[in-house]
Amino acid sequence: MSSPFWSDIVARLDPYVPGEQPKLANLTKLNTNENPYGPSPRVLEAIAGELGDSLRLYPDPSGTLLRQAVADYYGVDLAQVFLGNGSDEVLAHIFQALLKHEEPVLFPDITYSFYPVYCGLYQVNYQRIPLGSDYRIQVADYLCSNGGIIFPNPNAPTGILLSLPEIEWLLKKNQRSVLIVDEAYIDFGGETAVSLVGRYPNLLVTQTLSKSRSLAGLRIGFAIGDVALIEALERVKNSFNSYPLSRLAIVGGAAAFADEDYFREVCEQVVRSRETLASGLKSLGFEVLPSSANFLLATCPSRDAVELAARLREKGIIVRHFRQPRIEQFLRITIGTTEQNRRLLDVLVELLKQ
Ligand SMILES: *Cc1c(COP(=O)(O)O)cnc(C)c1O
Repeated sequence: MSSPFWSDIVARLDPYVPGEQPKLANLTKLNTNENPYGPSPRVLEAIAGELGDSLRLYPDPSGTLLRQAVADYYGVDLAQVFLGNGSDEVLAHIFQALLKHEEPVLFPDITYSFYPVYCGLYQVNYQRIPLGSDYRIQVADYLCSNGGIIFPNPNAPTGILLSLPEIEWLLKKNQRSVLIVDEAYIDFGGETAVSLVGRYPNLLVTQTLSKSRSLAGLRIGFAIGDVALIEALERVKNSFNSYPLSRLAIVGGAAAFADEDYFREVCEQVVRSRETLASGLKSLGFEVLPSSANFLLATCPSRDAVELAARLREKGIIVRHFRQPRIEQFLRITIGTTEQNRRLLDVLVELLKQ
């Protein structure tokens, strides 16, 4: 479909397609990397406490309560923290504010598929840098002239983690443009690059409360970096939407950072389940990439991936498949509860017999 009323940009957009959110009950939903466990009870209490007459008032435009909670948690200044309506919104502002230059922004050939979409929206030049044959990001491949570098760490959808020394090496070698490290999955076994922010004014780290803090439905993301980078994001935000976070998101997000015990327990459980599921899949003949995230990217040498995803769906289990070179024979499987992972393995045993 198209229309003469559309702008040229809209006519040429190739929008991101999110994993489906089916309405059917009783599905084993392992397709969008949500946390299988609910948010901390303290988050629910904080949100309940905010429900009332105050909702007639706009929220704090800079979300100071949550911003301060993030700053305290990571030991940085308030002015080094930027909040957005999900980290997708934070990333959108980053592409517009910091990555739109003459030289192309660099990102891996296999990575978060929203990056090229933002490039289309904001008309940013980009260049894809192939992962190694082991599906790893090779930081030495990013030293060509560029208008910025962005990748998730751990990468998505591979789940493979870069070490902090590798990131610091790249920062030392690439001081003329910004490096964005998208840490959507860092809490499942990685080490955050926030500790490098004070020493590298071109480093910006983004995170989300959607995965490790079980709040995908509340829409909260943030960035931590040098004050000049944060100021650029504030300028875009205040030219777009002054109130990206609702009152409920601000108090709920702050409460999530106050319940460290719950957070750790949930992350540890997901990591344990990941290792159990990875061994289970390997024992069924799957090849599984080494994941530091809350999902696995795996391929079954004896079955076509699209076919296998369809068979799983018939059994009520949904996983994600990407129609993309190099990974078209892989499935991305979100770590579920112990019962969900068990059910996936049981169903696979059955399917692989046929
Ligand atoms: C899930 C995800 C995001 C977006 O998270 P939201 O905060 O829910 O918008 C960003 N980057 C990567 C790599 C992700 O997987």
